[in-house]
Amino acid sequence: MSTTAFIADTIYTPDAIENGVVLVEDDRILKAGSRQSIELPAGTREVRLEGQSIAPGYIDIHNHGAGGADVMEATAESFDTIRRTLARFGTTSFYPTTGTATTADIRRAVEFLADAVEHASSPDVGCHPLGIHMEGPYLNPKRRGVHPIDLLVDPTLEAYRHFAEAARGKLSIMTIAPELTHAPELIEEMLRAGVRPSMGHTDATFEEADRAVTLGVRQATHMFNAMRPFGHRDPGVIGKVLTDPRVKAELIADGVHVDPKAIELLYRAKGADGIILISDGISAVGMPDGEYNVVGLRVQVKDGACSFEGHLAGSIVTLDRAVRNMTKFVGASPAEAIRMATLNTAILMGIAGRKGQLTEGADADLVVLDSGLNVQQVYTRGLPVV
Ligand SMILES: [Zn+2]
Repeated sequence: MSTTAFIADTIYTPDAIENGVVLVEDDRILKAGSRQSIELPAGTREVRLEGQSIAPGYIDIHNHGAGGADVMEATAESFDTIRRTLARFGTTSFYPTTGTATTADIRRAVEFLADAVEHASSPDVGCHPLGIHMEGPYLNPKRRGVHPIDLLVDPTLEAYRHFAEAARGKLSIMTIAPELTHAPELIEEMLRAGVRPSMGHTDATFEEADRAVTLGVRQATHMFNAMRPFGHRDPGVIGKVLTDPRVKAELIADGVHVDPKAIELLYRAKGADGIILISDGISAVGMPDGEYNVVGLRVQVKDGACSFEGHLAGSIVTLDRAVRNMTKFVGASPAEAIRMATLNTAILMGIAGRKGQLTEGADADLVVLDSGLNVQQVYTRGLPVV
């Protein structure tokens, strides 16, 4: 058993505490608070982080790949690459996200990911997969983005159960267009099984989105992107998300997917508690400009944007950059911006207390930041990421 005290100018629990300490024993946080409030046990190793701060490890509920590897490849080697790449940018937990492919390919990926999630408790130094996010095939063809039109299907309970069975209880989120025929039955089935339906790639009217929320839907996939546009006489799904505090909004805060002024509108409508920063990252994350494989499509990456045949195709943003962007785009405080990538996400996913917080008993997932919120060091369950 080894005890380490990380002492920093500020710790973000995610609330900001000046002159803070995070006391870690093996893979857990024993205590976190101000230096004066915490007594260090005899023999504690002290790590002084001068001019730096500590945040909880970031959590990404929407990621398709990184480091040149795609989640849909579903191989141990490519998955390891994704986990190591994301961890370098401060993301210590994620929900690997499948794309739209053939039923057989999705099922194969889901089976692979279920195994990966199951074995995520073994000690190592990558970003930990906590559950599966399925994006597709139950998306509206009208708002499909780059999801292949011939592979989008109308939802049926039978087909959904086929995927759920392959996921063996590890399916956490499914993006679904709630206006599709039979979508309400699927949503009810998901909620019964503890799977979180997320409104996305949707042409839902306000009324259709409202019905989904009444059923129990509480989140929206990449807010503004691949959604029926907001109209002042036709507010649509965007109007529903903006005005219902029960619904949390995924946001790709790269400055490409959503204009900073639209992000400001979201921030003003939802507050710092209503936004969940995601990457929607693809294999090109952490890589130079070029051409990358995204669920079999050849996607061009240039100047921070990923495109396929004129459509945006995922992003290369990392959550550390998204956090910095929120402070620049809307003037969010560092504590608020960090909350959007940590505690908000943990509360949404029902894992607060274990993830997304510097608090007694939580996993020792730590991100050490400089004064510009740039990542300096990362720890997953107490182990340094290299
Ligand atoms: Zn999408």
